[in-house]
Parts: sequence; C-alpha cells; structure tokens
Amino acid sequence: MDYLFSEEHRIFRRAVRRFVEEELNPHVAEWEAAGTFPKEIYKRMGELGFLGIRYPTEYGGANADIWSAIVFWEELGRCRSRGLTMSVLVHTDMSSPYLAKWGSDALKAKYLPAMISGEKVGAIALTEPGGGSDLSRIQTTAKKKGNQYILNGSKTFITNALHADLFFTLCKTDPAAGSRGFSMIVVEKGTPGFEVRKLPKKLGMHASDWGELSFDHCAVPAGNLIGEENQGFYYAMQGLQNERFAACVSFIASAQQALEDAIKYAQEREVFGKKLSELQVTRHRLAKAQTKLEAARQLLYHTARLIEHGADATKEVSMCKAFCADVACEVADECLQIHGGYGYTEEYDISRFYRDIRLWKIGAGTTEVMYEIIAKRMGI
Ligand SMILES: Cc1cc2nc3c(=O)[nH]c(=O)nc-3n(C[C@H](O)[C@H](O)[C@H](O)COP(=O)(O)OP(=O)(O)OC[C@H]3O[C@@H](n4cnc5c(N)ncnc54)[C@H](O)[C@@H]3O)c2cc1C
Repeated sequence: MDYLFSEEHRIFRRAVRRFVEEELNPHVAEWEAAGTFPKEIYKRMGELGFLGIRYPTEYGGANADIWSAIVFWEELGRCRSRGLTMSVLVHTDMSSPYLAKWGSDALKAKYLPAMISGEKVGAIALTEPGGGSDLSRIQTTAKKKGNQYILNGSKTFITNALHADLFFTLCKTDPAAGSRGFSMIVVEKGTPGFEVRKLPKKLGMHASDWGELSFDHCAVPAGNLIGEENQGFYYAMQGLQNERFAACVSFIASAQQALEDAIKYAQEREVFGKKLSELQVTRHRLAKAQTKLEAARQLLYHTARLIEHGADATKEVSMCKAFCADVACEVADECLQIHGGYGYTEEYDISRFYRDIRLWKIGAGTTEVMYEIIAKRMGI
C-alpha cells in the first residue's frame, strides 16, 4: 500500500517504528505487570514530535496530513502493549482534539502547547455509572456562577485517570434542554472538589490506567469551556468519530503484528513430522486472516480519503469501528489457536493481544451502537 505514502511519510514511519521497538517494546512486560507506564513517555513522545501531528505549528504541532497521522497510529499499534497504545491515543486523538478544534484562542494558548509537548496529559470523561451508550442521559451538571462553572456528578471507566492533568468532561449546563444543553469543560487535576479513584484491574489493556471521577461542588474557570455553551453533545459526537477512526487504524496494525507472530510460529513449530505452516489447514487459516485484515485496511484507507476531502464519513467510520473490531477479534482467535497451548500462556504476546482486543467491541461506542448509526444513515 506504499503508493499512498510519500518518502516523507516513510521516513516518519521509520522514526516511529524505531521509537516503538527501542523505547517501548523492551519494557512492555514490566509496565503491563505494573498496570501503568512512566508518565515521562509522553514527554519523550512530545520531544519526538509525535503528539501534535495534525495541530497548528504556532502551538508546537506539525500541521501534517491525515496520512502522517495514519503512519503514527499504525506504528504505535505495533507496541506490544495495546494498553499503552490506547492511553497515548486518548491523549492525542480522544481528548486534545476538542481543544485544538473548538477551544478558544485563550484556552488553546493555556493548554495546547503543554499537551503537544507531553507536559500535560489528557483524558476524556463521557461515560457515567448510569450508562455509556446513551450519552444523552448523563447526569453530571455544571452550573454557571459568576466566572466559574460548579460541577457535580461522577464519571467512570476513564482511561488515563491517574496520569491525566486535564479532563475533558461532558456536563449538563441546561438540564431542561436534554442533549442540547450539554457542554464540554476542561477540569484540571487537583481542582478542589475533584477526586480520582483507581478502578480494579480489567480483563486486558493492563498498562493503561483507569479510574472513576467525582465532582463535588468543583469550581472550574468559565474560560475552560470548550467552544460554545450547550454545544458539548455535538462536539462529543464529532470527537468520537476521530477517536474511533484513530484506534481502528492502530488496532488493525496490532492484528497484523499478531498475524506475523503466528506465521513465524507456524513456520517453526513441528507437528506430526511437518512444519505447522506446511499443513493446508494452517496455510488457509493464515491466508484468510490476511484477507480479512486487508479488507479492513482498505475500508480504513477509503474512509481516510473521505475525511481528507472533508466529506461526512460518519457511516464509514461506524462501519470501520464495527468491522475492524470483529476482524481483529477473529484474527486474535485464529492466531491464538495456531499457537496451541503456548498461545494460552503469558510467554507469547498473542494471549495479551487476545484479551486486549476484546475491548474494541465495547470501548468508544459498542458494536451494537455502531450498527444503529449505520442503519439510521441507510434510512432504515
Ligand atoms: C477499558 C475501557 C476504557 C474506557 N475508557 C473510557 C474513557 O476514557 N472515557 C469514557 O468516557 N469512557 C470510557 N469507557 C467507557 C466505554 O465507552 C463504555 O463502556 C461504552 O460506551 C459502553 O457503555 P456501558 O459500559 O455503559 O454499556 P451500556 O451502555 O450499558 O451497554 C450495555 C449493552 O447494551 C448494548 N446496547 C446499548 N444500546 C443499544 C441499542 N440501542 N441497541 C442494542 N444494544 C444496545 C450495548 O451494545 C452493550 O452490549 C471505557 C470502557 C472500557 C471498558
């Protein structure tokens, strides 16, 4: 697929790959066991220019095209801790875009350079204990009082909760107006009345920390409002497009790596006097997985072209999210099977990939929610 990428993209790809292979992958086992990774990684990625790929140069970004971002997402997807990949994507593609796209000049000047340099880490706080799929039912309120918003409520399942300095929080500012009365407000870690509690260990994505948030008469400067008041639901719906797409690109690259591992294993492992890769059933299994991955990648690249040309790609992004999650989970299952009993041990990366990738049918909007969006866009 190299025709889509220029020489500049290829140089950038090599730089990200080197960073992932030399500075991340050797530490993955340790970070997965610790349930987190050093916060300094963000600063290092900031130094390397990885945290502001599409952001304006005046704030420290590279103002690069979507294909540069795709290169970054694909190479970061080859980190053997998908938890780390997810945490970084929450910073680069799920929280800071709200600031870059809709933040006031003053708010961008206040936070964007620090997010691009990795000095400040972002989190996105949409989901509440009462539910995540139906965001129109959130209960957290933000009442305007003078030049402040007073927040009350709670959020759960928040990735980066412990690392983050800035929480992009969806709240109700006009409770009578339903989802037309929501606003997105940036809450700084350490604000009085704001507390973060670590959540128990999850099935996968172990190196990614997560927690729940509570707001108890938490006063935030009114200037920390993203964009316009009562436009938060619209911003969240737009923002979710970006986050779903970025993560799909990354996780399909992870699945490709899982397949490469399985091919290597099949070429080494002997059964009944033959290499596993010489058995037709294995060869077909591997070929089928590669076919599915190629189909997923083509859907992603097609969607990238729509985004690049400014088209509304809501239906296609939802298709990517539903389809890529299925493909990645199926590939994980096939690759684990090829590893036999060893696939069920911690010794091989495939067991980690298998449990990590299951999240992708749930996080950032479930598969069922994606099919609802697609069906509506089909007019049914
Ligand atoms: C590891 C992890 C990290 C996360 N990180 C974040 C984060 O950083 N920030 C954040 O805000 N949230 C985060 N989430 C929350 C995630 O986005 C939600 O879990 C997800 O949106 C689903 O919401 P829910 O868990 O409340 O499930 P529910 O909304 O209760 O859904 C339960 C089931 O009902 C199904 N369902 C819902 N609506 C329909 C429908 N219309 N038709 C058919 N079936 C339906 C769902 O598909 C699902 O199967 C994270 C979750 C996990 C597990």
